[in-house]
Amino acid sequence: MTGERIRVIRKALSQSRFRARFHLNHDDIAYIQSKNLKVIRSHAFDFITKRLAPASPVQDGKQTPFRGHPVFKAQHATATCCRGCLQKWYRIPKRQILKPHEIELVVDMVMYWIQTEFGKHALVR
Ligand SMILES: [Zn+2]
Repeated sequence: MTGERIRVIRKALSQSRFRARFHLNHDDIAYIQSKNLKVIRSHAFDFITKRLAPASPVQDGKQTPFRGHPVFKAQHATATCCRGCLQKWYRIPKRQILKPHEIELVVDMVMYWIQTEFGKHALVR
């Protein structure tokens, strides 16, 4: 996927009332600070690999909680929460195992969002 396409998706996400309402709260920020972003990235990779990458993920469409881990919120905010959203927003077809570069793309989207949110909190403190 090109950088231009990713910019178009990020802009559309920021204009979606549903996607743009997700934010990290103080508990999420404290959790990230207690781990560091490298560890959060490894969590993101694990979640995406187990819950999103299979051709038929368990409970697809409902596999991503709305709280409990910063990565889950990031997935809703970036429309990487289920295979339906991945197809709609990223044109990644359903019913196929995600390829390694697609997993990387999702993890990058999630981590970019988390870092942006994290940065906002750092400025507020
Ligand atoms: Zn979804």
